[in-house]
Amino acid sequence: MSNFGSKRLLNRPKFGNDADLLHILRRLDGATYGAYRQVIGQWDYGRFKVAIDRIQADSYAPPSSVRILLSPTAMNLPSELLETIDTRLAVGDFLNRSFGRNILEHANSTGKEPALSIARVSPEILLRSAVNVQPNQVELRIQVQMPARGRRILGHQAAEIFDVDLVEIAANTLDFTNQTYLAELTKHVQTLVDHRTLQRILEERNWIAFVANGAVLPRRSGVSQAPLSNALPFESPASLLQSVELPYAGTVTGMAIPAGITVIVGGGYHGKSTLLQAIQRGVYPHVPGDGRELVATLPEAMKVRAFDGRPVEKVDVSPFINHLPSLAETTRFSSQNASGSTSQAAAIMEAIEAGATALLLDEDTSATNLLIRDERMRRLVSNDQEPITPLVDRIRALWRARKVSVVLVMGGSGDYLDAADFVLQMDSYRCLDVTERAKYLCSELPRQITDVDEFAKPTTRCPLRLRKTSNRPKTKASGTSQFALDRQSVDVTDVEQIVDAGQTLAIAWAVRGVLEQLADARTPLPKLLEDLERRLDQGGLDALVQFGVQPSPAFLVRPRRLDVAAAINRFRALEIT
Ligand code: ADP
Ligand code: MG
Repeated sequence: MSNFGSKRLLNRPKFGNDADLLHILRRLDGATYGAYRQVIGQWDYGRFKVAIDRIQADSYAPPSSVRILLSPTAMNLPSELLETIDTRLAVGDFLNRSFGRNILEHANSTGKEPALSIARVSPEILLRSAVNVQPNQVELRIQVQMPARGRRILGHQAAEIFDVDLVEIAANTLDFTNQTYLAELTKHVQTLVDHRTLQRILEERNWIAFVANGAVLPRRSGVSQAPLSNALPFESPASLLQSVELPYAGTVTGMAIPAGITVIVGGGYHGKSTLLQAIQRGVYPHVPGDGRELVATLPEAMKVRAFDGRPVEKVDVSPFINHLPSLAETTRFSSQNASGSTSQAAAIMEAIEAGATALLLDEDTSATNLLIRDERMRRLVSNDQEPITPLVDRIRALWRARKVSVVLVMGGSGDYLDAADFVLQMDSYRCLDVTERAKYLCSELPRQITDVDEFAKPTTRCPLRLRKTSNRPKTKASGTSQFALDRQSVDVTDVEQIVDAGQTLAIAWAVRGVLEQLADARTPLPKLLEDLERRLDQGGLDALVQFGVQPSPAFLVRPRRLDVAAAINRFRALEIT
């Protein structure tokens, strides 16, 4: 028999029970690390099964891949929590969090470094590949650090991990006999269902966002998504106060921002950006206790920022930019190093192309010259010397012609007051409706109206197929701001609604899939994105396996179509026909 053949035989997946697994692990004590591969297979623990799919190359490599499989009945999970795709999503999200928490608690109580791990989570309730919930099966995808001393297997220690640690953590996570624990899960599911309902109500009533009274918007710090303690809870101005009926939260009152143009004004440090940030994260449901559970925004609302240095590939920026000094065509504007204003103009047009129904902008992260141009500057630098038409001259047309709403934070200029349907003022974290006063001021201190009437549909862009550069593609993501396809790194720092590192990784694979497998130089980008959505709707995150993800991915989180589009648009190798 060839060497290759005998090796294959040795490593054929095994089947047995937990006692068999422990027996092998103990027997392996002292063997060289690679022998761990003998436990690849499926082990029946009675109430659940443990599948060991992949063994790390050595103790410094990323930990080994393990799955825990069981039936919802074995967990005492009430079947109504598994009825819809949404409730199953919430159950999966809950189990991901709970397993992670139980790993830490187990480590604290035993005083040992945790050998087990599971994907980390943001406070948004999202579809996460770490826990796959189906009506008849729940599957957790976890990692186990297989212990060694140097290159030698620590078999007894490994046996203890699979005999004690894993069993205890699984027992604590996967049994809902305890009514308090079940109530916690139920609350989690209800929170998601209420948020989905709220988003449907937004569409029905032609609102773009709803912020419930009592919501806690500020976060503990710039690097923490935990709620700020002692924050002033949100309270709607009386004029925008609306009430909604939710299946579980019941009657909820709060501020409804209608479709159209809303400007948020106010002094520095009075809570403007905090409100906008809560609205931009309101596209996702949040976990109970977060403070933003009842903040909901149209799922297709897009934050758009300036981000100089980013690439732009054949984007129609002509509504904002014309007759550039370089004579570049502004209906197909390209740059490997966009300026502040062109980067934000591109971001706006790309968002519209990808189907955004509302744009969210903050003066803090915008290019001033894209937002405004005052009268003195219009006189000093004549229109034919200035390629930029600022948003203030386009915002009404954007709403009238393209039906795209805008929420804009603007404390530094009154130029938007004419254009706004609603003007909100943040005053010491309180939200006031100052629309009437703003309108009065506009008639007292009139501004020459410069706005332009039309806003053409952005031109169609069809991506070319990306040539595969290697047989062993490398796809990596770090945090929420960067990913890399082979040697190309993509900066998505300015795509603020990517909120979980798992989304960045899923986006990286989605970009690869769309450009390497779906793009054909004839299909417009929005169609490609629809195709991707369909695949994700049907197959969940495992659908990305067809684009090269290893089977049973454990770290992916479902991204929004709009954010995938934003990532494609920031990929330097993107080519449009
Ligand atoms: P602005 O954009 O108006 O300059 P920010 O939204 O950045 O102000 O808020 C300024 C500070 O106030 C931030 O540190 C923020 O966390 C805090 N803050 C915002 N809203 C509240 C609130 N409701 N209660 C307590 N602190 C708040
Ligand atoms: Mg601010």
